[in-house]
Amino acid sequence: PISTTDLIESHRICVCVRKRPLNKQELNRKEIDVVSVPGNGSLLVHEPKQKVDLTKYLDNQVFHFDYSFDETTTNDLVYKFTAKPLVQSIFEGCMATCFAYGQTGSGKTHTMGGDFTGKQQNSAKGIYALAARDVFTYLNHRRYNSLDLSAYVSFFEIYNGKVYDLLNKKAKLRVLEDDRQQVQVVGLEEVYVTTAEEVIRMIQAGSACRTSGQTSANANSSRSHAVLQIVLRRNDRATTLHGKFSLVDLAGNERGTDVSSNDRSTLVETAEINRSLLALKECIRSLGKNSDHIPFRMSTLTKVLRDSFIGEKSRTCMIAMVSPGMASCEYTMNTLRYADRVK
Ligand code: ADP
Ligand code: MG
Repeated sequence: PISTTDLIESHRICVCVRKRPLNKQELNRKEIDVVSVPGNGSLLVHEPKQKVDLTKYLDNQVFHFDYSFDETTTNDLVYKFTAKPLVQSIFEGCMATCFAYGQTGSGKTHTMGGDFTGKQQNSAKGIYALAARDVFTYLNHRRYNSLDLSAYVSFFEIYNGKVYDLLNKKAKLRVLEDDRQQVQVVGLEEVYVTTAEEVIRMIQAGSACRTSGQTSANANSSRSHAVLQIVLRRNDRATTLHGKFSLVDLAGNERGTDVSSNDRSTLVETAEINRSLLALKECIRSLGKNSDHIPFRMSTLTKVLRDSFIGEKSRTCMIAMVSPGMASCEYTMNTLRYADRVK
């Protein structure tokens, strides 16, 4: 099941978009589907106001990505084109990251499969579970036997610029940078794992204690970034780091335009989320330009992911999630513009 190294090379930065189906409430409201996925990585938004102005519509509302997944696409297929090549890359010594980006309710957690409080979804089929399965498949593959590797898992969240360990009762952790610019999350649990089931159980327990808050878009919206890391270490070389895969379920990207909210803590939360998403965009763009200067210090999120933005061995995949409904149009456009800037 191992793809070629060429595939990994050609995917240093991969940017995709995934459209979810209209949900029950949207169907009940007779909401209009304004997003089309004609294929070949393209995606089209029929913004209602501009639907008549065909020229403008073509210029502004068509986007092109590495892959575009329509509402009939399964997690399995999304995984195959996004995270799967990255799983293999960490065996080749890469630092890989996969981001789920988008508005609250657009399908980030459904895709990653980390929200075990969700009622309708089968989380076992998300990218977390599929990646964990393949890590152990590759670990046992003879191609990587000579490396003598072990797998470890960390799971934490970043809320308001602070790191909380989801595998250790949400202990608040400090992020330190040493004089060689190495970033360390001090005291982060890193658990030795031997089966995919162990990984799933840990994600399940960790997900149950994620921070959530209230926004106008969704009462259960997540205002924190969740970071799952699968780390490979060499047994024969004093557990030296060999490769690392970070899977990031980002906080909702909806803008703080809802200033009617007088709640100060909500405004602070939103400002912090915007800041970290801006930092992330800048870091991926710098990586794409092979720039020497990666502005990873701009946010806690990019600081803890520093390894993944530096050097030849960095691999990044961003999956931008969009809701299909007309009511989400503005958020959808924001998401697409962001993803467009990253690629
Ligand atoms: P987010 O994490 O971005 O806030 P969720 O993943 O929680 O969004 O998705 C919101 C709702 O939509 C959930 O009930 C989820 O099961 C459903 N959903 C999301 N994406 C899909 C999809 N591709 N197919 C079917 N249902 C989906
Ligand atoms: Mg979510």
